[in-house]
Amino acid sequence: MLSISDLNKTYPNGTQALNNVNLEIGKGMFGLLGPNGAGKSTLMRTIATLQNADTGTVVFDGIDVFDAPDEQRRILGDLPQDFGVYPKVSAEMMLNHIAKIKGIQSKGDRASYVSDLLNKVNLYKFRKRNLGDYSGGMRQRFGIAQALIGNPKLIIVDEPTAGLDPLERNRFHNLLSELGEDAVVILSTHIVDDVVNLCTNMAVFNEGSVVVQGHPQELSNTLNGKVYRKKIRKEDTEKYQLEYTVLSTYLRSGNFNVNVYSDAHPGEGFEPVANDLEDFYFYSINQPQTV
Ligand code: ADP
Repeated sequence: MLSISDLNKTYPNGTQALNNVNLEIGKGMFGLLGPNGAGKSTLMRTIATLQNADTGTVVFDGIDVFDAPDEQRRILGDLPQDFGVYPKVSAEMMLNHIAKIKGIQSKGDRASYVSDLLNKVNLYKFRKRNLGDYSGGMRQRFGIAQALIGNPKLIIVDEPTAGLDPLERNRFHNLLSELGEDAVVILSTHIVDDVVNLCTNMAVFNEGSVVVQGHPQELSNTLNGKVYRKKIRKEDTEKYQLEYTVLSTYLRSGNFNVNVYSDAHPGEGFEPVANDLEDFYFYSINQPQTV
């Protein structure tokens, strides 16, 4: 449904944010997982026609979106990292305004449409409250409501759960998973759990390029039997990094641990670890992480 071909973008300061990006994305939730600075937002903004690429094409349902940006915007629901909240406007007024812009002309239709949306994202009770007084989770849910106006066929969600508490995050995940039933939803994130919980397909993105694309479970299965854990002293971290392919270092039950990638058993004190998308992700971006 969404075909991205040979996309390149270098900013005027010389930063190459997209380096020959090719992706095929179908209906459902698609996770674009990559570290900060990988180029995810650049890609999202390009798909949303908010900025230009230097070369390449994005085709959605047969429409070349660079040739027909208005058409793309009509079918797009965009939930950017920071969607420019107007602090002194209530959620209800703001949604009403966006619905009008998106072509719902009758006042009565608009009112019931906005009420339905507010109910859907569980904000009806707070509809009169100014957006500036919303919590992080409420803002994210408001973001979903505004993205849903006009029944978009393509929904872009950029770093949605950064800064949300676990309860808000859970609620937000439930909402997102409903969207994937009928549209292409692209979730861009650096949080592995978001992809594990929500996405049927994914790509790892790093330094402007797609490193690998596939089903999250199948991708993590590729490391089957090749990840080992050991309790170590924190001060030995560097030594291990020199000697092994370290995927991550982390605290577990008060102990410092290292996870390494190895084709064979790496030696005394190491124990095998079950497959995990986080290990796969760190392996594919090839940078040891402290988690
Ligand atoms: P991500 O969303 O994965 O964190 P971005 O797309 O925001 O990545 O950024 C990719 C790279 O492009 C980074 O090195 C960033 O500093 C750079 N970058 C992003 N926007 C601009 C811009 N407007 N001008 C110059 N460099 C930019």
